[in-house]
Amino acid sequence: MKKEDYEQLLEEKGLKKTKVRMALARHFVNIEHAQSYNDLQAALVKEVDKSTLYRNLTSFEQAGIIHRINDLSGVAKYAFGASPTQGNEHAHFVCECCETVYCMEGRAPLQIDIPKGFRTNMVQTIVRGICADC
Ligand SMILES: [Zn+2]
Ligand SMILES: [Zn+2]
Repeated sequence: MKKEDYEQLLEEKGLKKTKVRMALARHFVNIEHAQSYNDLQAALVKEVDKSTLYRNLTSFEQAGIIHRINDLSGVAKYAFGASPTQGNEHAHFVCECCETVYCMEGRAPLQIDIPKGFRTNMVQTIVRGICADC
C-alpha cells in the first residue's frame, strides 16, 4: 500500500490525516500479525506518545480500519481490517509457543443457532497451534 492509499483510507473513514494516524495505518498494513498495545508502542515509540496511541487505536477500531482480537491471553490484540461480522468471519491462529496471533484467510464456517432473544455482537473463531516460525 502506498502513501496515497493510507491517505485515502483515512479519508474514506472520515478521519483527519494526522502524522500519527498515517504512521499507525502504515504499521498495520505492513505487519503480518496482530499487534498488542505494547507491540504498537514499541514499534512507534518515535512517532506516537502513549495517550495519542490509545486514542487513535480506539478511533481506528470504531472506524473499522482495524479489529480487536481477544485471544484469551488477557491482552487485546489488533489487526488490519474491519471486525469480522456475520458473513465475513475469519479465524485467528494463536501460536502456543510465541503467542503471535495471525488473521487467517478464508471464511470460518460457523453454523451456530443463536437462541431467540439473544443478540450477537461478535463471532470469533480461534485456532490454536504452533506457527511456521516456531
Ligand atoms: Zn510461533
Ligand atoms: Zn483478524
